Amino acid sequence: MKIERICTTILKRPVEKKFGGSKYNYDVGGYLLTQVYADDGNIGCATTYFGLIESGMATVRKIIDEELSSVLVGEDPHFVRFLRRKMYSRIEYYGITGVATMAISALDICLWDLVGKAAGVPTAMVLGASRKSVPAYAMVGWYFQDGLKGLVESCVNAAEEGFSAVKIKVGRGSLEDDLNRIKAIQSELGTSFRIMVDANCAFDEMEALRRGNAYQDLGVYWFEEPLQPFYKEGHRRLREKLRIPIAIGENFYTKYQFYDAIREGCVDIVQPDNRRAGGVTEWMEIGAIAEVSGLKVASHLGGSGNVNVMCALDNVIYLECEGIKRDNEMLRYPLKMVDGQILLPDVPGMGNELKADFIEKYKVC
Ligand SMILES: [Mg+2]
Repeated sequence: MKIERICTTILKRPVEKKFGGSKYNYDVGGYLLTQVYADDGNIGCATTYFGLIESGMATVRKIIDEELSSVLVGEDPHFVRFLRRKMYSRIEYYGITGVATMAISALDICLWDLVGKAAGVPTAMVLGASRKSVPAYAMVGWYFQDGLKGLVESCVNAAEEGFSAVKIKVGRGSLEDDLNRIKAIQSELGTSFRIMVDANCAFDEMEALRRGNAYQDLGVYWFEEPLQPFYKEGHRRLREKLRIPIAIGENFYTKYQFYDAIREGCVDIVQPDNRRAGGVTEWMEIGAIAEVSGLKVASHLGGSGNVNVMCALDNVIYLECEGIKRDNEMLRYPLKMVDGQILLPDVPGMGNELKADFIEKYKVC
């Protein structure tokens, strides 16, 4: 099999109801769709999502179109690690993290999609499957314009979809506001309904300690991104002083950054984002580093591509979802959930193709 050409497409999808994270607001979601065409007729796909960054899609597209395409065209996609080395060496002067890694990640996902499609099985089977489904939680606890009412409604909808855990944003307001958000959900769904909190790096160390103590008293399951991602000493001290598990990783690029954070004792739950971490190849290695360190892995973001990787790891605990309905509006092969677990898509490759009418509707260029 040989790669013939690579095509990139920018999509923009407005959100129906504006919402915010701990430090930002969303009103549009931008996607870069990358498609790698092979001479056996298969197309490897990856979708790189950008929340706020208007120019993110065009930046990554430029790196793929003008630098990395020529590295891959004519090559056999099965040589994923060989091609990863070649790609890193080509983009060295962009810097080997950040948007450069996002470009490599997209292409790595496409390569694994092609490898699965060529074998006629889900990519998880080629990677070495460990399971056929992954427990999922719903990231639906945004800051909504209608406040607690919108928050509780969103979590109740997730529970009705079959989720038994939700993640909510904290840190935009006071500690009291955070606690009100947690208690409002608990009073509607019960204290056994699992809640995770995500601060999007909003705190300094003292404030993270103060709030972390309060979250753990309410039985919150994990405390995500309390501090700036690279502040390792702070994470390590926080982890020593709190019982609540610290979850980080969505802002890390490559296994080397994960290795540093894990070795220095900064993290309990390791959260790779396959758009940033380096794609499937890198994520499998991060999973192994976490495993030998006795740590669990939860994805940042969801989708079928992540399900395939997570079904090939032993130490995963949770797939993140924005809600099945929202994910399935864009996916050609809809995600299915049974007993709170997302099933491995029963299609060759990553199962991550977008619907043709979704692409048509939101395509910008
Ligand atoms: Mg997060």
